[in-house]
Amino acid sequence: MENSIIFGPIPSRRFGMSLGIDLSPKIKQCNFDCLYCELDGSKTVSKQDKNDILSVQNIIKKLKDALNEHKNIDVITFTANGEPTLYPYLSILIDEVDKIKGSKKTLILSNGANIYKKDIQDTLLKIDMVKLSLDCISKECFKKLDRINSSIECQKIVPGMIEFQKKFKNQLILEILFVKDLNDKEIELELLYQNIKKISPNRVDIGTIVRPPAYDVKPVDYNFLEYTANKFENLPVVITHSNKIKNLQSFNQDEIQTLLKRRPLTYEDIDNTFDADSKKRLYDMLDQGKLKAILNNNITFIKTDI
Ligand code: SF4
Repeated sequence: MENSIIFGPIPSRRFGMSLGIDLSPKIKQCNFDCLYCELDGSKTVSKQDKNDILSVQNIIKKLKDALNEHKNIDVITFTANGEPTLYPYLSILIDEVDKIKGSKKTLILSNGANIYKKDIQDTLLKIDMVKLSLDCISKECFKKLDRINSSIECQKIVPGMIEFQKKFKNQLILEILFVKDLNDKEIELELLYQNIKKISPNRVDIGTIVRPPAYDVKPVDYNFLEYTANKFENLPVVITHSNKIKNLQSFNQDEIQTLLKRRPLTYEDIDNTFDADSKKRLYDMLDQGKLKAILNNNITFIKTDI
């Protein structure tokens, strides 16, 4: 147990070299029991079991050791075998990490279920990058897909996110994981789009199941993710997925311009949709100044210059 409190370094394309802090290293403790979870399915909890609560002192000691060993860390990530905001000393821990992190950024990966609680908002306001899941808007979907603990008032999650983002000075990233025949229905997509516009996050990552899920559910295909990214007009959407899911197509110059007018693309999007000739065509257009590359929240987007 002791060794697994700190894990990594793990290279992340979006956040750099990350050192993770697992706030529940011994057992899964989550207020969701998502069908797609890569951990085993388990009964939900509303707070961490007091027998399994780590001391801040212990975590900081392990973190200091790891930071001494690894000098190239960009980000310290608060995470858990489950939900990190269930850790009762999170606020104090963040303050202690801030004292030793130097120029490194802090990041939390949370399912967002507690964001409407004032103490959790105040705690997360102290973090540099907050990544929250939002797979569903309707109560039915939350119950079916995320299988939420009965203590969660899911209708308060979006208002909580809106309120949090109004106060937050740093980066808020939302993540939607799509599961076939569950949250991929048009009605849920429309609800997600309308509500995410109100939240106004700095980035929206959309993806699907990659690793073996806890329950028998299936991923959506790449075309669906692309359709969704196009539907979520004017939102900074990034499609994240396994490189195995590719849909390589051929595009001429006009088609590339039309495509980019509709939606700026990341290098990952290009790798997953453009065949080799089309990729070369796009990079030539970039060299000729017909397209431009723009950095937005650590991600490069290719846009049309017209
Ligand atoms: S919130 Fe994360 S850890 Fe919890 S059940 Fe869902 S996927 Fe698993």
